Amino acid sequence: MADLQSFSGMVAMLASYSLCRAFQLRRAKRKARIRILEAMPKVELHVHLDGALCNEALFSALSEKDVVDKLPTSVTLGWDASRPLNVKAELEKCKTLTQFNCLCRCKGERSLNAMLRCFEIFTPIVRGNMQLLEENAFKFAENQFKQNVVYTEIRYSPHFLASTSTKTKTGVAPGAAREVVAAVTKGLIRGCEKFDIVINQILCCINWRPEWADETVDLAYEFSQGGGNAEECSVVGVDIAAGEEHFDEVNFPQLHGPHLKAIGRAKRLGLNVTLHAGEDTGPENILKAVELYKATRVGHGYRAADNAKVLKSMAQRRIHFEVCPTSSFETGGWQGNEGEWGSHPLINMLDSGLSVSLNSDDPTVFCSSLTKEIMIVNDGMRVSVAQLLNIMNGAMEASFASKEVKTMVCEKFLKRFKIDY
Ligand SMILES: [Zn+2]
Repeated sequence: MADLQSFSGMVAMLASYSLCRAFQLRRAKRKARIRILEAMPKVELHVHLDGALCNEALFSALSEKDVVDKLPTSVTLGWDASRPLNVKAELEKCKTLTQFNCLCRCKGERSLNAMLRCFEIFTPIVRGNMQLLEENAFKFAENQFKQNVVYTEIRYSPHFLASTSTKTKTGVAPGAAREVVAAVTKGLIRGCEKFDIVINQILCCINWRPEWADETVDLAYEFSQGGGNAEECSVVGVDIAAGEEHFDEVNFPQLHGPHLKAIGRAKRLGLNVTLHAGEDTGPENILKAVELYKATRVGHGYRAADNAKVLKSMAQRRIHFEVCPTSSFETGGWQGNEGEWGSHPLINMLDSGLSVSLNSDDPTVFCSSLTKEIMIVNDGMRVSVAQLLNIMNGAMEASFASKEVKTMVCEKFLKRFKIDY
């Protein structure tokens, strides 16, 4: 009996030892996997400069009197004119960086407009401040380098970040949007040279501001042709951001006409087109983006994944989808819960053979980073490290970089990375 007892005790001890060992091994394996994901050379095609600003630099700028003096008392929101946003009062309430961070971050609201509202709060701090914009562009490059992002396409609306004026029809001071592109280009070039990475730019039209669309295309063309004497960090494409109402020619003809015309002109000028579409709206906007506006890439497009026919058609036309996991959760573009990443539209997109990239969209606003996005996809969606490397290669292929840059980035960074796992 005594022998039997000591035997079963030994079995229990061995079982708990193997459980503990299995747990340790799993943990060590996970740590090794995280190290690989951190070291992996990355490509990011969908990240907004104004969603990636350095909060410390912005908060510090708030201590300067001329910055505070220029803040607007209130801002009218394009999607809700009845409730103006009291920007100055909200910012003046912030006494610490923590309070400022809370104001600038959009977490848990799960609404696209709640996210867009966030931008209206903090962008007035950098608006028209060329030195701060240039510094932020440089810091952005540094941050990409720290995550091993070897190629990036960063996007922004030059008008949204430019000095305002009450005397012009566009509400932007003459020449101010051009100044923004020149300042951002300068900061990016400085960063890319220092950190030996490549960053190109995409200029965004803004859904609610059709009066900016034409000049956005003009600037995109100028800075795609070495504008400001810059060969590097050039503009490689255009986009329409901040909502999809412009696709609706029936209810929003005042948005649809000017945007469609401007994008048509961009195509004729040889600029590439990627459009935010199907983020929290139906697949019809994805079809319009591709068929009517002739976009070759789609920002988000989660609603394509609900429709097998649209998915198949997009895969056949080799349309690339810029997927932003955290953003899709926070804007409500994807309505699943945090523990349900396995049912994210990305899985359907991959299974259908679509070309996709992984992106952080607005890392400061969502407290995210490209590395964190990749970890979600690896951990929560069970996409393997080898598959992730394939995604990075596919993203480079779908980028708007020149053939020479694509070859250089692939040979210098992506092909040399070996997965030892
Ligand atoms: Zn976006």
